[in-house]
Amino acid sequence: MAPEHKPSFAIIGGGMAGILAAVKIREAGYDFTIFEKADSFGGTWRENTYPGVACDVPSHLYSYSFALNPDWKYLSASGSDILDYFRGVAEHYELAASTRFGQPVTRCEWIGDRWEVEDGAGHVGQFDWVVAATGILHHPKMPDIEGLDDFAGSSFHTARWDHSVELDGKRIGVIGTGSSGVQVTGELAPRAGSFTLFQRTPQWVLPVPQIEYTEEERADFRAHPEKLEQLHDEMDREFHSWFGEEVLNPESEVFAGMGDACTNKLDSDIEDPVLREKLRPDYKLACKRLVISHNFYDSIQAPQAKLVTDSIVRIEEKGVRTADGQLHELDVLVLATGFHVDAFVRPMNVIGQDGVELDELWSERPSAYLSVTLPGFPNFFFLNGPGSPVGNFSLILTAEWECQYMLRLVEELSEAGHRWACPSEQAATQFEAERVEAGKDTIWTTGCKSWYLDDRGVPILWTFPFERFREEMTGPKMQDYAVG
Ligand code: NAP
Repeated sequence: MAPEHKPSFAIIGGGMAGILAAVKIREAGYDFTIFEKADSFGGTWRENTYPGVACDVPSHLYSYSFALNPDWKYLSASGSDILDYFRGVAEHYELAASTRFGQPVTRCEWIGDRWEVEDGAGHVGQFDWVVAATGILHHPKMPDIEGLDDFAGSSFHTARWDHSVELDGKRIGVIGTGSSGVQVTGELAPRAGSFTLFQRTPQWVLPVPQIEYTEEERADFRAHPEKLEQLHDEMDREFHSWFGEEVLNPESEVFAGMGDACTNKLDSDIEDPVLREKLRPDYKLACKRLVISHNFYDSIQAPQAKLVTDSIVRIEEKGVRTADGQLHELDVLVLATGFHVDAFVRPMNVIGQDGVELDELWSERPSAYLSVTLPGFPNFFFLNGPGSPVGNFSLILTAEWECQYMLRLVEELSEAGHRWACPSEQAATQFEAERVEAGKDTIWTTGCKSWYLDDRGVPILWTFPFERFREEMTGPKMQDYAVG
């Protein structure tokens, strides 16, 4: 009898999802290599080191379910604590020994019935599976504002922070009021000589106080892991079940109630009526990703801080020129202007069956069957890929469910004596059509602009009830797959 074929995996990316995939794949008894373009693990938490960087998803939820952490210091963990956590997990599972650091993967090509994976150094390896754990908020988006290069001071994107630049007492400007811009403001406005926040669209800001876990509480979690599990599960229900359902209801009363709480906070905390009105959003809460902050309103009212809502005309040598003709002189200009969320694995060149390139498959928009697999690209699997639930959720749990699905698919194939699977054209097309249709009834399409929508106004997220995602991820419907 021929020996059983044990599939091997190339995991692209050594961030949260790549580390997770490696742990789960090893647990299932398979071999893998992680390809990490940088010299260390950590993904988005290695790249985002801006002052104030933190995770507004509660730390006990933003943890692997198999590596809950009794030692989180805060409800909203700092970026550096999160980075330490992920690196600690990678170290615990000795993942570095199975990782190729320092080169990006440039090409994945389906040849015969395996993937050929090539990195930037020209190293080529063969694998049965490719796991794309490359993240979604990965490629910084520079604003299309005239004169960016003319600025004589220091300028950088939040995800490319230049730590050599002195900040205390400087004239700092920040463009963008998404989660990153708000966190930077919380930290930097009090430290700056002058601080100018350029806001194009006001945000709903949910006031959630920061909580510090005492040493006593942490010791209690260490002594009683079941309490940690209970807390994790409660948070999971709260975030994924009700929040996940509410975003599908543009008339959500729950969100209307949360909107009232935000408005009350705005009205009570912002003293200057002009500033207050500038900060008041005129679209539905949760249409854009909800911003959560404990210090934004205090910081933007620091005596040296100002909010500018006149549109930016251009960047000049000395600062930012706005439509009212004013030049806002700056030493440091921070671009908190978000990410190219449609890039996914690109610019990597992915070539599937019959030489079809991923860019051809995605000529209209990035899409994936159930957010995880692609027709014509066998054994190519996304974690947090196109159409996956993102937003105010924990991407970790999402990736855990997706991993579970992948490993069940691998199991199904092996039991049936097959080597590969990809969704049929029909199953993928039908799923995408349903996903796009369902997107029309979500809160995301009620009249705001955000990175949740593509350039045609179609949500790039999971547009169905969150429960459907969990159900789908319990295992593949093999009738939707072509196998070989
Ligand atoms: P973002 O949400 O895409 O926000 C970009 C900001 O830049 C927006 O305020 C946008 O204004 C503004 N902007 C872009 N181009 C501009 C231009 N040409 N002129 C003026 N303003 C411009 O990006 P982000 O803040 O980096 O956040 C991205 C995502 O990362 C978040 O939604 C979240 O999922 C994740 N994140 C999470 C956390 C966390 O704590 N969990 C923290 C940070 C980031 P408009 O609103 O008018 O478009």
